[in-house]
Amino acid sequence: MERKNAWLSYDAAQKEKLNELCERYKTFITRGKTERECVDQAVEAAEKAGYISLEKARKKGKKLKAGDKVYDTIMGKSMVLFTIGTAPISEGMNILGAHIDSPRLDLKQNPLYEDTDFVLLDTHYYGGIKKYQWVTIPLAIHGVVAKKDGSAVKVVIGEDPDDPVLCITDLLIHLSADQMKKSGATVIEGEDLNLLIGSEVVEKKDEDEKKPKKGEKKDPKGNVKDNILKILKDKYDIEEEDFLSAELEVVPAGPARDLGLDRSMILGYGHDDRICAFTSLEAMLNVKKPEKTAVCLLVDKEEIGSVGATGMHSRFFENAVAEVMDLCGQYSELELRRALRNAKMLSSDVSAAYDPNYAGVNERKNTAYFGRGLVFNKYTGSRGKSGSNDCSAEYFAEVRRIMDDAGVFWQTAELGRVDQGGGGTIAYIAGNYGMNVVDAGIAVLSMHAPCEAASKADIYEAVKGYEAFLKA
Ligand code: MN
Ligand code: MN
Repeated sequence: MERKNAWLSYDAAQKEKLNELCERYKTFITRGKTERECVDQAVEAAEKAGYISLEKARKKGKKLKAGDKVYDTIMGKSMVLFTIGTAPISEGMNILGAHIDSPRLDLKQNPLYEDTDFVLLDTHYYGGIKKYQWVTIPLAIHGVVAKKDGSAVKVVIGEDPDDPVLCITDLLIHLSADQMKKSGATVIEGEDLNLLIGSEVVEKKDEDEKKPKKGEKKDPKGNVKDNILKILKDKYDIEEEDFLSAELEVVPAGPARDLGLDRSMILGYGHDDRICAFTSLEAMLNVKKPEKTAVCLLVDKEEIGSVGATGMHSRFFENAVAEVMDLCGQYSELELRRALRNAKMLSSDVSAAYDPNYAGVNERKNTAYFGRGLVFNKYTGSRGKSGSNDCSAEYFAEVRRIMDDAGVFWQTAELGRVDQGGGGTIAYIAGNYGMNVVDAGIAVLSMHAPCEAASKADIYEAVKGYEAFLKA
């Protein structure tokens, strides 16, 4: 039951559409390297497409009707969009869900320190990473610094071609006799992921004010840290103490780029899972007046278990559905329960693509391949499907029909050989409502690495598949 490759099916006009879509996707992930930056871009695109904020609709006392579009955000880090259907919401919604957080290094609350004429920032990694992949590559800092006066400063350092970049150093091979004997998990340790941000020693203005701390040597020539703090003050008007209330994420610097001499793939940071978020949003914006209320959910914190106010475990989504039903004149506690129970969802997250370099971790019949379209995982999980949603056979039969009727290229897969490892998604959390949920998504290579790869054909097929699902 080998699935067909989508590339063979495209004519010139389709390839043009595919390339136009992928150019916009590259811009999206180049600008969207944090969950906040993804929400900002999604809000901008949604408002341009006629969506209004739920808060605004509520304050105006706007009555929602079929075809109306609203969105809600929480803490600027998760978002949900609704296009009201012609059927009552209690009959169910068609939901696309994806996450917009990606593995990275977060700055600690007290990150800044000076060591022997270097200034560094201490980090705590976020999500599952191979730590050794994050050294000796150009890194950028994206995020916000919230100040006591209530203002928040947006920070992006390392993306403009004129910007400097940051870096974490590695030990030279010449002196790595001991390091090279360590296992991959410890060759670079989490506590050693310290970002190098400066080395120019400048003269201290007032020696008396900079008395050395206990155990610290007094350096009569000057230091590096004061100069770095001055740069932060001049450029962003932030003090060292402001790091305490900041969310600064260290991510690979530079834009997403075409991969391959044939430009058939994209190499970039954060395909997991912005590739599904972008394609879900794209499909959502293409849907005008569906029968079932269409929903697109872009959530934070998946990489650390979907916890917290902005993760899928939060009541954020359920509350937003209640508000929307209220504005439609359809709210009651029971009707809300019915809407959630009768909903259908494609919970989208990236799949592990077959990699000829590491063929041994996959079982060929149940593996995702580049260019064969949208990937469905009936179940995910690890060690005997543990933690998996495992969608019902009847629901997946329906999904097969929707995809085939719309001429979408699609495939099915598991995440690797049995007992090789595994992973989870947000599917099981939505499943708690009793709704039908299946894992869907796009295959990537080098998942969770600073640079991941994906196929342009799969991006194109995903949008087609998501749109068909919302219209079903
Ligand atoms: Mn993911
Ligand atoms: Mn992931």
